Amino acid sequence: MSRQSISKKRINTQILVILMFCTLAMSGQSFSQWEERSAAIMGTNIRAEVYHESEQLRNQALSAVMMQMEEINQLMSPYIDSSELSLLNREAATRKVVVSDELFYLLALSARLSELTKGAFDITFASVGYMYDYKEQQRPDQAQIDGKLQAIDYRHVQLDPANNSVRFAHHDLKIDLGGIAKGYAVDLAIERLKALGIEHALVTAGGDTRLLGDRLGKPWIVGIRDPRDEEKQAVVIPLESAAMSTSGDYERYFEEDGKRYHHIISPRTGESVYEVQSVSIIGPESVYNDALSTAVFVMGLENGIGLINGLPEFEAIVMDNERRMHYSSGLQQ
Ligand code: AMP
Ligand code: MG
Repeated sequence: MSRQSISKKRINTQILVILMFCTLAMSGQSFSQWEERSAAIMGTNIRAEVYHESEQLRNQALSAVMMQMEEINQLMSPYIDSSELSLLNREAATRKVVVSDELFYLLALSARLSELTKGAFDITFASVGYMYDYKEQQRPDQAQIDGKLQAIDYRHVQLDPANNSVRFAHHDLKIDLGGIAKGYAVDLAIERLKALGIEHALVTAGGDTRLLGDRLGKPWIVGIRDPRDEEKQAVVIPLESAAMSTSGDYERYFEEDGKRYHHIISPRTGESVYEVQSVSIIGPESVYNDALSTAVFVMGLENGIGLINGLPEFEAIVMDNERRMHYSSGLQQ
């Protein structure tokens, strides 16, 4: 072997070693450029993961996510006396109440989603729903349900866009945004991340997840849990630049005489619905996914999947009450 070819080989080896070192350094670097944070807000676990070279920006971004969640919580929680939602439930049956742009927007959107879902999604379910306490295992009896059922009707919520005011047209009316507010907060958090220059992120609030970009060349893997075993995943789905929300009968419930009283309520009967155990909706934005997952749960398998098949931007994955999986038409190919 000539001197020349030996030195060439040596140089090649050196280049290879340098390349390997660079790759390792880069992957180590990109790994450390991910940062994650969790917090308990809105009665659920909020988790965010962001990617950016700047550690300062990563921390700023994660703080912005949590601040956004807390802002929506302060406006819309039924458990906070000073929230605008609590104020509406106390006073909107007797006078017009002016609310923030955020709450007004969400009330108007909720009304449109009630129309779209033929009343399956209806924030006035709370007129009866407030009598359930899943932690305390309390539920209304039939007479109590019958006494308030008339109040459930989204058309009783009168919105005046001229001055952001709200008036309830029924004295027993109560509203609750538990089926849509988390998704809305996730979308607002993603907007904040985008404004800060973040291009790869995950934000999840309970069952509502939205992904910004991919996981650096790979999709995010989002799971749907087994409704009867929290350790197990029923399905995992690769997703990027998309969102998925899941509604399940396992999130808040108690059992009595073998019957599961859970938190998704039919606005028609004022009681939990039993046709399915879990509904996941995939679509571009969490606010719609959140409301539609609740709505499809109420509508049941056929009507629910029928609704989603008519909405080109959305897909559904449903587990029925015999644990069979069903998919909307776009997922069947
Ligand atoms: P999710 O976990 O998104 O399915 O939302 C469930 C939550 O939505 C419940 O905890 C209630 O706060 C609320 N909810 C229950 N039933 C309905 C309904 N029919 N329409 C709108 N919101 C509902
Ligand atoms: Mg929902």
